[in-house]
Amino acid sequence: MQTPVQTLSGDHIAAWLERAADELEREKMFLTELDAPIGDSDHGVNMARGFTAVRGRLDTLDRSDIGALLRNVGTILLSTVGGASGPLYGTLFRDAGQKAAGAAALDLAALTACLEAGLEGVRRRGKAAPGEKTMVDALVPAVDALKAAQSAPPPAGARGGGTPTSRASMADALARAAEAARAGAEATVPLIARKGRASYLGERSAGHQDPGATSCWLLLRSLAATAGA
Ligand code: ADP
Ligand code: MG
Repeated sequence: MQTPVQTLSGDHIAAWLERAADELEREKMFLTELDAPIGDSDHGVNMARGFTAVRGRLDTLDRSDIGALLRNVGTILLSTVGGASGPLYGTLFRDAGQKAAGAAALDLAALTACLEAGLEGVRRRGKAAPGEKTMVDALVPAVDALKAAQSAPPPAGARGGGTPTSRASMADALARAAEAARAGAEATVPLIARKGRASYLGERSAGHQDPGATSCWLLLRSLAATAGA
């Protein structure tokens, strides 16, 4: 368990990416099994390959500018993940990086803006609306949860102890976002896929959890853990 943080530095982002690579390697079979009935059994392998490549390059990437770091990660993911999800995750990180250009640290508002920009990139590139059984179904509730956390009152234990401007802590907000993404991923089970490979199955895609929404949840869970949640 790490000490909860209020802002994320480039080192935190790098620590998150390492943790995410571990998590995706550990959950590779789970994600690939989700992709078996409604896809081609490669999502876990794709994600583990991409984030392992990111981990291998982390020491060579500049961490002082989080925007540049995230853009570089997006470029690595674009060229290593493959499938439909590679360009989408690549876009997510690159657009998030664009939003963070020049930032040495991200507070909750800046992080929320980054994730929202990443989500907009995914939606622009993949043309998926919520409810179409894709990554979007985990990302939209996660962004909503981050926004809600910013206007939520601080947890009872923080009263009097925190600064007047500290609302929910970064760790608490990220834990809520990860939980919202998990619920969003699980809520894809009854949905009929309208985008990507799973859409070829039409109504037969119902009854299965979307692998891409699930990997979004795993990434956010790793980020929350990195922030000390
Ligand atoms: P492929 O489908 O090419 O084998 P992956 O298995 O790596 O690629 O990724 C599949 C995931 O990609 C799906 O579970 C879904 O979440 C996501 N996905 C596919 N198409 C789209 C889209 N148009 N918009 C958003 N996400 C999508
Ligand atoms: Mg696949």
